[in-house]
Amino acid sequence: MTLARRRFDTLIIGAGGGGLRAALQLAQADARVAVVSKVFPTRSHTVAAQGGVNAALANVLPDNWHWHMFDTVKGSDYLGDQDAIEYMCRAAPRVVYELEHFGVPFSRLESGRIYQRAFGGQSRDFGGEQAVRTCAAADRTGHAILHSLYQQNIRARTHFFDEYFAIDLVKDDEGYFLGALAVDIASGEPLLIEAKTTILATGGAGQLFRTNTNALINTGDGMAMALRAGIPLQDMEFFQFHPTGIAGKGMLITEGARGEGGYLVNADGERFMERYAPNARDLASRDVVSRAIATEVREGRGVGPNRDHVLLKLDHLGADIVRKRLPGIRDMALTFLHIDPAETPIPVYPTAHYTMGGIPTDRHGQVVVPVAQGAEEPVPGLYAVGECACVSVHGANRLGGNSLLDILVFGRAAANHVIAQLGEQRYHRQMPERAAEPALARLARWERPGQGESVGALRDELARVMEDHCGVFRNEDVLREGLDKVRTLRERLQRAGIDDHSRVFNTARMEALELENLMDIAVATVTSALARTESRGAHSRIDYPERDDQRWLRHSLYNGADGSMDYKPVRMKPLTVETFPPKPRTY
Ligand SMILES: Cc1cc2nc3c(=O)[nH]c(=O)nc-3n(C[C@H](O)[C@H](O)[C@H](O)COP(=O)(O)OP(=O)(O)OC[C@H]3O[C@@H](n4cnc5c(N)ncnc54)[C@H](O)[C@@H]3O)c2cc1C
Repeated sequence: MTLARRRFDTLIIGAGGGGLRAALQLAQADARVAVVSKVFPTRSHTVAAQGGVNAALANVLPDNWHWHMFDTVKGSDYLGDQDAIEYMCRAAPRVVYELEHFGVPFSRLESGRIYQRAFGGQSRDFGGEQAVRTCAAADRTGHAILHSLYQQNIRARTHFFDEYFAIDLVKDDEGYFLGALAVDIASGEPLLIEAKTTILATGGAGQLFRTNTNALINTGDGMAMALRAGIPLQDMEFFQFHPTGIAGKGMLITEGARGEGGYLVNADGERFMERYAPNARDLASRDVVSRAIATEVREGRGVGPNRDHVLLKLDHLGADIVRKRLPGIRDMALTFLHIDPAETPIPVYPTAHYTMGGIPTDRHGQVVVPVAQGAEEPVPGLYAVGECACVSVHGANRLGGNSLLDILVFGRAAANHVIAQLGEQRYHRQMPERAAEPALARLARWERPGQGESVGALRDELARVMEDHCGVFRNEDVLREGLDKVRTLRERLQRAGIDDHSRVFNTARMEALELENLMDIAVATVTSALARTESRGAHSRIDYPERDDQRWLRHSLYNGADGSMDYKPVRMKPLTVETFPPKPRTY
């Protein structure tokens, strides 16, 4: 059987905000661009983003990009690369105004300007009073952005392969990336998409954990594809736990709820954040608030029959504010808890939310690998943007509102870099005859009649192991045991099958491929967490409670081939301003 093939200038895998922002820039520059997505584009997970996107517009209070940069560096616990952070914060107002012109229906202030709300970790004047920096379309900002970007792409004639699952990247013997093998989920037919450049924009891996805020599709596929192609993953030990997931269920209650004036209380009715973060209180950085909630519960001050959560109070805000500024949160509380948050506090507990680590890139979105003594080199033909990438602007802890910004700024930057590359590369490189064979073999493995353990049961087990062994607080013994368990699960998956009944649906095969990806990402995450013997940002080691800049102010790199770790320096030098040197981090 001959393999179906299509050719484009650029292949983008992923139709979330990162992929669509890049696609739009390319299509508007007349590049032939294909976007592959395993779900219909507007179902990509960007659609779920609630609270907003950061930009120092100063619409409510004085602000500027340099303060935004300081907050981001401090929020990252000094692990973020300061050149990329400066680039992102400077570009922020421009990308937000672009969105406004693309048709994003931002909420408005009385003055008619874009509405902005306070979010965690934001300050004025380099660590002073709270700033108000997050531009919002009520609490449905991601929905508004994704739909506008999709419509603009349709207008610009971007070519979409909807409900196609990308299996693996394809490269030649010189290591030049030439596209990817995908499969049409409806028919099961493989398709080789050849491209002069490929951009990974496949989002995060929240499905690693049982309780999480992510969609079922967030299985770290692009990161696992990169690993299989020989590219290490950076800073995988840093997984963000959002402080306010609905307790026991995981769905997100945006930080915007605290930005609007909501606050947390324990079983004694105490505003406990005053003890943990005397200045910023409920709007301290996410890692700080998550640890505070977990500590309150561990020390017996949790709420409920099992004392296993705390409460988020919004009832003092008044029904008007809750309905106008937080309509999605109100809907969610009514649907899943049968309570109106304008009257009754919401039970919350930290929930797995965001993958800070990922595929290492520079600020042009080029995937980079270490070569010698701290130097690195771009991987020819390959880019990564958005949550699957690690550029690294979030370092050890992402600030709320900075991820939508990241996908827009670096989606655009990567596309601009690709446009320049395309100008120099008129022809497609020769695709070696057998280049797609490993990817075809991966697909074929799940066509065999099913026998052995169920894929679904293994996925559940993995999510539980990750929750128990790689959560908010970690230590050597728990991580070591966790690593043994995830490795064993990965081996068990080799012998698993999809049963005869579910085999008739290609979705069952896709779930098996996704689980293979999740297994690789789980091993990367736990291995990296075990290796980092300090506490920094979201990585909190009970056995190493202090940050150790002497030994650990460096990025980790996990190698998929042999499970080993390498390290590389943090880029401390910004583009035009002075470095923010590491300091003790208090809020
Ligand atoms: C509930 C929630 C609320 C949030 N709120 C905010 C907020 O208010 N502000 C903020 O800054 N950030 C927020 N975030 C984070 C932010 O929304 C995400 O980090 C960001 O949208 C990720 O965008 P992305 O383009 O990288 O990936 P995604 O939007 O996740 O898109 C990934 C794309 O890749 C495709 N894909 C994946 N694997 C494959 C494959 N194998 N084959 C084909 N296609 C594939 C998917 O189909 C999808 O199109 C929130 C996150 C969540 C979960």
